[in-house]
Amino acid sequence: MDAGRLRPEQVSFGKLNNVREAIEICRTARTILGANGISLEYPVMRHATNLESVLTYEGTVEMHQLVLGKALTGLDAFR
Ligand SMILES: Cc1cc2nc3c(=O)[nH]c(=O)nc-3n(C[C@H](O)[C@H](O)[C@H](O)COP(=O)(O)OP(=O)(O)OC[C@H]3O[C@@H](n4cnc5c(N)ncnc54)[C@H](O)[C@@H]3O)c2cc1C
Repeated sequence: MDAGRLRPEQVSFGKLNNVREAIEICRTARTILGANGISLEYPVMRHATNLESVLTYEGTVEMHQLVLGKALTGLDAFR
């Protein structure tokens, strides 16, 4: 980024993978805690709902996949 060579699809790749992994980790943490994972006593569901927001803003997984698909193939699958 400092060198001015960052491309939008690289940002898409980082955002897509970062949020996807964070949600997966959160789901694992929730199942490790069993029934307690779904109660308000533990903050796992708070992180899960927060991550659903993060998944949405600045582009969903679907949107970033479209951006990456275009970068890889040169073909638009969207308008
Ligand atoms: C907590 C929160 C905070 C936010 N803060 C801000 C903010 O500070 N500033 C700001 O500008 N915005 C903000 N937003 C808005 C956010 O950026 C948008 O919600 C996001 O860009 C998705 O747009 P949308 O909700 O209109 O969904 P849509 O774009 O209508 O998408 C709905 C669904 O359709 C899919 N989709 C859309 N287009 C296509 C296509 N062409 N092909 C295939 N699938 C498609 C999407 O992947 C998604 O699954 C915030 C949203 C949330 C939830």
